[in-house]
Amino acid sequence: MDLIESSQDIENLLLTWFRDNGRNWIPWKLKTDGSIPKSGEIISPYGIWIAEVMLQQTQLKVVVPYWEKWIKIFPSLTDLVDADLQNIYLAWQGLGYYSRAKRIHQSSKLLIKYIGKNRLEDPSSWPTTIDNWMTLPGIGRSTAGSIISSAFDLPTPILDGNVKRIFSRLLALEKITFKDQKKLWELSTKLISKDNPRDFNQALMDLGAIICTPQKPVCSFCPLQKLCVAYIKYDPQNFPKKDMKKINPCQEIGLGIVFNKNGELLIDQRLENSRMGGMWEFPGGKKNSEESIEMTIERELKEELDIVVKVGPKLLSFEHAYTHIKLHFTVHICEWKSGEPKPLTSQKLLWVSPERLSDFPFPAANTKIISELYKHLSIENQKL
Ligand code: SF4
Repeated sequence: MDLIESSQDIENLLLTWFRDNGRNWIPWKLKTDGSIPKSGEIISPYGIWIAEVMLQQTQLKVVVPYWEKWIKIFPSLTDLVDADLQNIYLAWQGLGYYSRAKRIHQSSKLLIKYIGKNRLEDPSSWPTTIDNWMTLPGIGRSTAGSIISSAFDLPTPILDGNVKRIFSRLLALEKITFKDQKKLWELSTKLISKDNPRDFNQALMDLGAIICTPQKPVCSFCPLQKLCVAYIKYDPQNFPKKDMKKINPCQEIGLGIVFNKNGELLIDQRLENSRMGGMWEFPGGKKNSEESIEMTIERELKEELDIVVKVGPKLLSFEHAYTHIKLHFTVHICEWKSGEPKPLTSQKLLWVSPERLSDFPFPAANTKIISELYKHLSIENQKL
């Protein structure tokens, strides 16, 4: 079946389905008064760009509240460009993959140069080509296509995970090779509606999210059923074939909550060029196979901060999975015995009172520690 020959059919079927079933409530796709933009009408690319970056590793339902909070804190590009990176991390806290927040900040400076400070209110002065958007850190071809079609209603194709899955099923492609990838981009470019590109791309994304889902696609409600080779000949769920899941290694980590005599505790800021650079955390590190977790904490705090501590009671232990590794954290309360803390492997150290911890951006794993610490401190206070 030649999908390109059926392009008009596909456009009509998808747009009709979208009008009745599409997610036309997504806040960054609406005008500032909450109404749906008309065909050809330009809407602000600012909120769309932020949402697209948030969506790169995170699902829509998780992104919406973060996006709403972000828009309240940084309502425009000017607010963002002047913001301190720490406040950007605080607004991002909980979404994970913090390098995305850092790239947004870097991109804001490039965008302001491109647009010009006095033209920011005019959405048409923002970049409108794939090449221009792709010069920004972290913006790939599909993200660029989605921003442009959503904001300017221009026919820029997309090929995100949802769209790849739909196409691989329509064509019954078991595996998407590098060559297929090229073919799918051509398909997306040829199929996109020239009259309603914004709705067409959104219809594809919505179909992938609502109907043509990774598991158990709801083919009986799919507008493209009669054109879908996987549906007609095979079991669609088997397309595209998934790679065998890699089993991530597990690493044990020991962390110390070090208190001083004033009841303040020690936090350190990760080096700027490291993973999650600029974020704050509790000191500690990887356990060696021959040592106990208490020994790890003692050793790490000596190596990282040049202090001697007495490792006290365990606060909590938990697992946290990243894409490439699983970490098993064990956290102990520690008493500071000697040595003036120095940031030997971090950029900065601070003694802070527990109430002030919320002023600093911490990676997701550390937020579990903070909430357990608050519980522990309220119990301790009741004992006094
Ligand atoms: S018929 Fe089923 S597999 Fe094919 S595109 Fe529609 S939902 Fe996906």
